[in-house]
Amino acid sequence: MSDFEAMKRVRCPYCREWVDLYVDPDTVGTLVEDCAVCCRPWAVVVEREGAKMRVHVSRAQ
Ligand SMILES: [Zn+2]
Repeated sequence: MSDFEAMKRVRCPYCREWVDLYVDPDTVGTLVEDCAVCCRPWAVVVEREGAKMRVHVSRAQ
């Protein structure tokens, strides 16, 4: 088991639903992920600080 955080509960900027987002432990930076509820594209920004992970979701253009 890794100590790194991998799951984050994020709120979709389109449908406002809370969705559990899995982020691969090696992933950092910006990625595009579709909402599991409404399927619209998110721009996901992943920041890491040690084992802590911060995720920001906005609408992908
Ligand atoms: Zn959505």
